[in-house]
Amino acid sequence: MRKAGDLPRDLFDLVPVGGGDGGGQSDLVHRSLRGVVAEPSAQQRYPTATANPRTDPDGPDGAARLAPKPAGLRSRVQAVSLDQRVARVAEKALADRRFVTPIDVLTGLGWLHQVHLDPWRLRRVDNLEQLVQVGPEKVALAMGILRDWATARGLEPSEAEYLARSRDRRRLRFSIAGDEAVERAFRTHWLSPELTGAERARLSERADRRPELVVIWPLKDFTCSICGTQSSGLLVMEDAGPVCMECAEMDHLVFLAAGDAALTRRAKAASRLWAVVVRFSRSRRRYERQGILVEEDAIELAVAASVRHRETPYEELLMSGLDREAARAAVGDHVLRTLDAWRS
Ligand SMILES: [Zn+2]
Repeated sequence: MRKAGDLPRDLFDLVPVGGGDGGGQSDLVHRSLRGVVAEPSAQQRYPTATANPRTDPDGPDGAARLAPKPAGLRSRVQAVSLDQRVARVAEKALADRRFVTPIDVLTGLGWLHQVHLDPWRLRRVDNLEQLVQVGPEKVALAMGILRDWATARGLEPSEAEYLARSRDRRRLRFSIAGDEAVERAFRTHWLSPELTGAERARLSERADRRPELVVIWPLKDFTCSICGTQSSGLLVMEDAGPVCMECAEMDHLVFLAAGDAALTRRAKAASRLWAVVVRFSRSRRRYERQGILVEEDAIELAVAASVRHRETPYEELLMSGLDREAARAAVGDHVLRTLDAWRS
């Protein structure tokens, strides 16, 4: 079990974690989660394994609830309160965004910290389950509660895609074992029936969008997993480990520091390939954006456009009725001089 104090401080401190936890219990979680979405009735086959109070005839909702029951009472009391906690977290997410995700529940319950999501999305860790601070059987219980709650509320299951921010944009893995039914349960978002058609379309458009490519500016030197070179430069994460910019065929890109939103936007738009550069902040314990990598031409185009708009009477010339080409020609010298100065 991981505690908050064990949070990864740095990329390279992220050794495999939670290995001792999952092994023996993961079969239980996978059995109890199987069919969470695909075949809800399958849960009935493992009523005692899931210990779901609502499917347990002796549970708090059953007829026997008033009978004294010293053994197992404590765990049932906890299960009831988990029921309420999941419902509270889910209600809040639903009120905020009109949909609920399993990640909302795990973070809302305090079992998974937001700072853990970045290393997972960057594929610094293989799966999310190993970062969750409770055992897999408890996660399975919460997922079952979420599904029951969402079904009772009339929410609609919708499968979302979770893609890595690495070059291959591969599907992110949630569970240690990678069982498909469990993975699907983790990917399932529960949508409010009150979502309008437009909101629904926006959600699925966002879900289909490829995540931005992220490049890591490491705190320490690393050894490229392809060429074996020790490097202090930028890296991308792949299956085998860190990969240097040369091996990733990204060494032609140039760095544009964050800070000028308009320049960044223009450079991204002009570059066929671009990536966000992040660096781990030890004090804030999270990855922070440093800037972007773009093609050199794109930066020049973006700088020229920015100079034209900010430092010349380009806009005024346009407003006065001059066409775009003539206005550009009129301010061209100043733009070129600025670009020359910027290059040197
Ligand atoms: Zn390399």
